[in-house]
Amino acid sequence: MSKHIYADHAATTRLSDKALAAMMPYLTECYGNPSSLYRLGGESQKAVDAARMTMQECLNAPRPNDIYFVSGGSEADNWAIRGAAEIGAKKGKKHIISTEFEHHAVLHTLDYLKKQGFEITLLPVHENGIVRPDELEAAIREDTALVTVMFANNEIGTIQPIKELCAVAHKHNVLFHTDAVQAVGTLPIDVQELDVDLLSLSSHKFHGPKGVGALYIRKGLNLPNLIYGGAQERGKRAGTENTAGIVGMATALKEAVGSIPQRTERLTRMRDRLIDGLLKIDRSRVNGDRLHRLPGNVNMCFEGIEGESLLLMLDLKGVSASSGSACTSGSLDPSHVLLALGLPHEIAHGSLRLTFGDDNTEEDIDYILSVVPPIIERLRSMSPLWEKIVMQDRHDNQKEG
Ligand SMILES: *Cc1c(COP(=O)(O)O)cnc(C)c1O
Repeated sequence: MSKHIYADHAATTRLSDKALAAMMPYLTECYGNPSSLYRLGGESQKAVDAARMTMQECLNAPRPNDIYFVSGGSEADNWAIRGAAEIGAKKGKKHIISTEFEHHAVLHTLDYLKKQGFEITLLPVHENGIVRPDELEAAIREDTALVTVMFANNEIGTIQPIKELCAVAHKHNVLFHTDAVQAVGTLPIDVQELDVDLLSLSSHKFHGPKGVGALYIRKGLNLPNLIYGGAQERGKRAGTENTAGIVGMATALKEAVGSIPQRTERLTRMRDRLIDGLLKIDRSRVNGDRLHRLPGNVNMCFEGIEGESLLLMLDLKGVSASSGSACTSGSLDPSHVLLALGLPHEIAHGSLRLTFGDDNTEEDIDYILSVVPPIIERLRSMSPLWEKIVMQDRHDNQKEG
C-alpha cells in the first residue's frame, strides 16, 4: 500500500519515539523486579517512582501516591466503579448515575452491578452529546453512591462539563468518577481543580505503550481492591509492575501534555476544514456539538449508505478510519453513542469517525476531502435505501409544487 493515512487516534496511537527509547533499558538489561532488594530491582523501583512523580505533575495530583498503575483504561474504570459501589453498599447506598453514551468498560461494569442489586440511572446526552448538570442534580437520590461521567466521548469527541457535574455530585455528598481516557494528554487536566474523586486514563491513547494505564484516587478514599496478591501499589493493586510500560506511559504523557496548545490549534483547524468540506455532501450531518469537542475528532453521518462499506473503500484508498468505536465494529448494531443522540437506526448506520493526531498533516485532509465524496456517490448509486430517500424527496417536492 503506497498511501497510508492513519485517522483512528481514538482507537489507539503510535508509540512515541521518546517513550520507546525510555522503555528500552527496562525491556533489556534492567529487568529487575521492583520489589527485589538487590540493586537491579532497586533501579526498576526508582524508574517506577520517577514515573509516578511525572504522572502526578501532569495531572496536578497532590501526591505521587495518589496515582495507581493498572493495566489500562478498562481496568481503571472497573476498579473505580466496582470499588465505589462497594463503599456505597456498605452505607446502604445502591444507586449509581452515569450516561447513555459511556464506553463499554463503564456500561458493562454497570450491567454487572445491576445484576448484583444496584439501581442504575443513565442520563440522556441530548442531540449535542452533552450531559446537563441540572439533569444530574434531579437524578441524585438519598441512596446515590456514585456518579460516573466520561470526560470526552470516544466516538463523537464531545467534552462534558466535568467540573460542574462533579460539584453537583459533591453538593449531595456523592462520589464522582470520570473516564478521562480520551481527554488525558489532549486536554489540560488538573484533578485538584476539577475536584474529582477518581479519574481513569490509558497510556495507548496518548502515544504510550498498550496494556498500561492509571487510576487517580483522591487521598483518604479507601477504595477496595479489584486485584488481590502482592503488596504493589500500596497493597491496593497486586502484580509485578509493568516497569517498561509505566516508564513509557509517563514519558509519553509528559510529551503530550507539553504540546497541548500547539496541537489543539493545529488539529482544530484541520478538523473544522474537514467538517466544512464534508458537509457539502448532500444529506450529511455532524454528530455531536461542533464547539465542545476534541480537537482531532470528526464524526459524521451520510444518509443512504452503510458505514462498513465506506470504511472498506476508504481502506482501499489508504485511509484507516472507523465507524463508531473499535469495540463495536464487527457487530452490525449501530453505535449506542449515535442512538443516544437520538439518531434513527438507518442514519446511525452510515457513520464515519476520523480522529487525528500529531502525525497527520493538512495534505491528509486534502486527500480525504478528495476521496470521500466520490466513494459516497458510488455507494449511494448502489443503495436501495438512497433510492428510497430520493423518491421520497421527489414525492415531497411534487406535493409542494
Ligand atoms: C480506549 C478507551 C477505554 C479503554 O481503555 P483500554 O486501555 O483500551 O482498556 C476506556 N474508555 C474510553 C473512553 C476509551 O476511549
